[in-house]
Amino acid sequence: MTMIEVSHLTKTYGQGSLAVHAVQDVTFAVQAGEVLLLEGPSGSGKTTLLSILGCVLSPTSGSVKLVGQELTGLAERHLPQMRRKYIGFIFQSHNLLGALSAWDNVRLPLILRGTPKAEAGAQAEALLIQVGLGEKARRLPEELSGGQKQRVAIARALAGRPPILLCDEPTAALDAQNGQAVLETLTELAHAGGHTVIVVTHDNRIFKYGDRILHMEDGRLVKEEIGQARPPRSPA
Ligand code: ADP
Ligand code: MG
Repeated sequence: MTMIEVSHLTKTYGQGSLAVHAVQDVTFAVQAGEVLLLEGPSGSGKTTLLSILGCVLSPTSGSVKLVGQELTGLAERHLPQMRRKYIGFIFQSHNLLGALSAWDNVRLPLILRGTPKAEAGAQAEALLIQVGLGEKARRLPEELSGGQKQRVAIARALAGRPPILLCDEPTAALDAQNGQAVLETLTELAHAGGHTVIVVTHDNRIFKYGDRILHMEDGRLVKEEIGQARPPRSPA
């Protein structure tokens, strides 16, 4: 099933002589269960593209369909609704609340969404198990490795069960082993869980580990490769 369909997408910041053509005529599609790596140097438009897919930013022209629904025709006020329904975000920095356990960090957004407490607790536990941290649910962030913290952030992004995970440089702050564990978790969510995962990166240690790799330069897609989808098993 096609989850994301991008067609002739363009984003220009500013106008006239100050115009920055951050995304230029980009076309691609992503299927359910797929891990897509979006690779390119700093300033090539990766974050801009991800922000448009995540309903945070409106494009200048072109079309984006999420699960068959056209975004570009929607009024601005409908974007947050689309975002809540379809998108989970993961950033370079995990942004966990330091005073709360892993479990509470995942449970909190569920409670804020109005999920009854008992159900939120059970869901948070299930999500932590899903990212391989069932045993660490009661730990504080400072008692977890960088990769484990990032996996808690993934569990938190999965609260509300969004089908699409958008990850902006999720391994940039991690060492190779922790970065690999995070990629492995994301791959599992796609291949076993049916999620659609897009990972933006300029981390050359993880370039291979996607189903497909799109290379971006100066706002354009310049090359597409088949990846080596399964990262090698790494210790937790
Ligand atoms: P990447 O994530 O690949 O580093 P970005 O999408 O952040 O690239 O940026 C692409 C280009 O757009 C860069 O030239 C950047 O300076 C510019 N840019 C990004 N955000 C803004 C903004 N809010 N206003 C103006 N220019 C921006
Ligand atoms: Mg960026």
